[in-house]
Amino acid sequence: METMDTQYNHHSNKHSQQHQHPQQLPRRQSNIDEIPADVGKLRDNRKGRHNSLFVSPTSGISSASTDDFSRITSMTSDRSSIITSNSGGSSDQQIPDYETGNEENDGRLKKLHYAAVEFLKVQSNYVQYLKEMAVLYPEYMERFGKRMNRDLLAPHNGHENVVLQIKKIMVQILPIHEMLLKEIDTVCSNWDSRQPNMSKTIGTFADFLKCCQPFLDNKADFLTKLLQLRNEDKEFDEATYMFETEVFKRGKKGAVIQQLDQVHQNFMRYKLLMLRYSEYLLEGSEEKKRAEEAIAKLETVTQAVNQKMGLPTTEELTKLYYRFQCQFNVLEPGRVLIRQGEVMKQTRKEEQPRFLVLFTDCLWICRVSSSQQFEMNRSYRIPLEYMRFERMEADEYVRCLMVRSKVKSAVIIFGSEKERNQWADDLTKAQFDRKSYKRRQSTAVQKHDENKLKMKKLMMLSEKNSDEEIQRPSTINGSSRSTSGSHDEDTSSSVPVTPLDIGDAPFGDEEIPRNGSKKQTVADVIKPVWLPDNISNECLMEGCSTEFNLINRRHHCRDCGWLICKYCKGQAPLAKFEYSKQNVCSECYDRQFEIYKAGTLFPTRNIVIQSDGTHLVKIGKRDRQEVVDPRSLFKHPTNLGFRHRNVEQKRAGSIVFGRIFMRHRKSEQLRHALIRREDLKLVVYKAELDSKPILEVLIYGYLYRETQLDDGWLFELVHRNQIKTDDAKDEVIAFRVDNNTSAKKWSAALADKLEMDPTHRSTF
Ligand SMILES: [Zn+2]
Ligand SMILES: [Zn+2]
Repeated sequence: METMDTQYNHHSNKHSQQHQHPQQLPRRQSNIDEIPADVGKLRDNRKGRHNSLFVSPTSGISSASTDDFSRITSMTSDRSSIITSNSGGSSDQQIPDYETGNEENDGRLKKLHYAAVEFLKVQSNYVQYLKEMAVLYPEYMERFGKRMNRDLLAPHNGHENVVLQIKKIMVQILPIHEMLLKEIDTVCSNWDSRQPNMSKTIGTFADFLKCCQPFLDNKADFLTKLLQLRNEDKEFDEATYMFETEVFKRGKKGAVIQQLDQVHQNFMRYKLLMLRYSEYLLEGSEEKKRAEEAIAKLETVTQAVNQKMGLPTTEELTKLYYRFQCQFNVLEPGRVLIRQGEVMKQTRKEEQPRFLVLFTDCLWICRVSSSQQFEMNRSYRIPLEYMRFERMEADEYVRCLMVRSKVKSAVIIFGSEKERNQWADDLTKAQFDRKSYKRRQSTAVQKHDENKLKMKKLMMLSEKNSDEEIQRPSTINGSSRSTSGSHDEDTSSSVPVTPLDIGDAPFGDEEIPRNGSKKQTVADVIKPVWLPDNISNECLMEGCSTEFNLINRRHHCRDCGWLICKYCKGQAPLAKFEYSKQNVCSECYDRQFEIYKAGTLFPTRNIVIQSDGTHLVKIGKRDRQEVVDPRSLFKHPTNLGFRHRNVEQKRAGSIVFGRIFMRHRKSEQLRHALIRREDLKLVVYKAELDSKPILEVLIYGYLYRETQLDDGWLFELVHRNQIKTDDAKDEVIAFRVDNNTSAKKWSAALADKLEMDPTHRSTF
């Protein structure tokens, strides 16, 4: 599967490639089902644990000159205003080692130094952002409009265009932030952790944050106007999507609307940075005092802003930021906290506590350490657009939500059904919002590509009629210009050169075959939910039913998650595990083997053809791929051709089915019981999916009793004969049902089929 990363790499290599090997160019893909390989992984943390607060660690003018961003910036007329004064400068500076003779102190000084440099990076990125919104966005819209002979920045409803309104305010904020950037840069360039002096700069700046107030006052209005304009004006909308795609990296940095969050998030960001910085200062030092003053100032400003804008309290976000061990950017533009809470997760053996955090763009399933922090290497971040979830319906599972994704699949258990439903509702809404944005963006990109292709065809036709160089398509000229380093706009071209026309796949890319013989879908790579061990005491393959014990251990199919025995276990390569050899059940084995025989299992890009014509395949994760004989990845199970047992059948064929606690004298045991519709037998199983019952009784001839308990309902079946003789107490079948919904069903079923014991008073 092609990842986003490699797409970008290909993309930025196009300039050098396209003249030599146009036919080998990768197809530009806009399929939203493509999943980036780094989904769910933590950000690269090698640069230090504070990375997460960067606005965007990779963006910026100092990156390779062929990327989309600098292409666009290089095309703007006011180039000098785009380039940050720090590009490639002190922001990349190395943190030196300190040698004071005290190892602990050396470590502290280095961390302090790092925290100081962090201010520089954050501020540099923020200034970059302000320029993107104040300069780049309006210019982009203007150019885009020009190509369609339209003014996309024309007044709207009698008011100045909102893009220009935003520009006006941003331009006012910009100089103060540039000034601060310069000051922080100066402090950092002369930095010595033994005489730290960042607090004064930040503290003074906190007073100036007031300058952002006009923007914040108008933010809601900007948002409404932008949304309105995008809804009413399709071309404005398309242009904005393209801006988001190219400048904000296909929405990786969020949409324009979400980016408006940057301004107020920046307040909070400074507070968090200052807290961090202050941690490494010596108690009682002058700088520590100043740092605390600065924090207090920032806190006041932030609190006021968040309150005014109806955002989560700063305490809540600060706490979360620390629980994520400063490794997850809770302040990313457009990322808003929706809901968080404690849950249980069904694991193979038991239920374990977890902490769920839902943001507008992702769901975290966190493992909590004893210090209440999240264990980052054992927690999972699932992007909402790549997630599926399902409310489980059976009575015992009404508190459960099944979450499935490429990253992690699990059954999550909430405190109550109501809580489960609230989470599910929020998830549905967040996912809908996220997906519809991505879809609209993808449509805009696609439409744009199509238009461009049409135009290029037109140009190629006219070129055929003339050998004159001047009539070559402007796109080719544009590309060669940008690689040769000349950025002058070709005014003689008959087609206005917009930033969008340059560097994309050349004419004819529609003929390039797609990579891979089979398009991978989300379903192919979603991890299975493992059935818990205690759900069955026997192999779940039809016709096998081998009982599990010390010799016949439980195995899990890595493709479907079912419980199987060693005879039903084979091995096969699975897409969800990068085609490595995995344990599978006989049904999944058959399917994988059939697909393999049909020649569509492995994507073509994974296939290596040898000189003798035989095929090998590349398997494993990108960083440690192996090339192997595909046949070595299959091992057929002893029980070949076995299928999944229909585990729904039992439930479907019963009047009532559920978890019960069988009572015997004073003790209770968890069991699963049903009343079978066809023969009206009460059947009790040790485990929910067992096929062999441990008890089977025809219920006719019994009277029933029911009693409400503190922890559920007690049902007793007493044989008519027993009541008369009043002996053999052991023959009473007694069980407790702890789930209220289920208890009502048991009560209704028994009342329908049996008579109540006249000597007993019903409490239902
Ligand atoms: Zn399977
Ligand atoms: Zn089996």
